[in-house]
Amino acid sequence: MPKKHRIIFKETEKEEIIKNSDCCYIGMVDTDNNPYVLPFNFGYKDKCIYLHSGQSGKKIEILKKNNSVCVVFSTGHKISAQNKDVACSYIMSYKSVICYGKVEFIEEYDKKVEAMNIIMQQYTGKNFEYSIPSINNVLTYKVVIEEMTAKEFGNLS
Ligand SMILES: Cc1cc2nc3c(=O)[nH]c(=O)nc-3n(C[C@H](O)[C@H](O)[C@H](O)COP(=O)(O)OP(=O)(O)OC[C@H]3O[C@@H](n4cnc5c(N)ncnc54)[C@H](O)[C@@H]3O)c2cc1C
Repeated sequence: MPKKHRIIFKETEKEEIIKNSDCCYIGMVDTDNNPYVLPFNFGYKDKCIYLHSGQSGKKIEILKKNNSVCVVFSTGHKISAQNKDVACSYIMSYKSVICYGKVEFIEEYDKKVEAMNIIMQQYTGKNFEYSIPSINNVLTYKVVIEEMTAKEFGNLS
């Protein structure tokens, strides 16, 4: 069966893949050059990926020293086979996006609320009210995207 292997150039199509993802994978590099990759919930708006977490942990220590990240989104996973008895005829269809960028921490109260709502919009499609302590306690940050590539792979049928 012919395969579709397509580089995606259209920004709107790349954003569609991001919007259809249920999480992203943030790749970081520590000061000893060791990679560290974590799954995250996210929100996306205007070429920025919004993230939230507790105030501490390994990821925060890394990001405060090296804010360069690589972020992966992937959707539409589907296994299919031309011949179910032939291992190499199995393929995984997918659409994926890779973003390169820099993390900026969001400190201002109103901007933190905005960041939380961008994340909540991704999962619920609506905005929320937040208590003051919950906003004060959460750490919010965004990846400002500098480069974004996208690819589609699958059966043409
Ligand atoms: C689908 C999904 C969505 C998530 N969304 C968020 C989010 O939006 N915000 C958020 O803060 N966290 C989220 N998490 C959890 C996140 O991936 C990390 O586990 C968490 O943030 C702690 O990371 P840390 O670097 O602070 O770990 P620390 O508490 O500092 O612990 C570091 C140690 O624990 C190990 N470790 C840390 N996390 C994981 C993990 N997930 N799996 C296996 N080993 C681990 C590391 O290898 C390291 O040895 C999500 C996890 C999943 C699976």
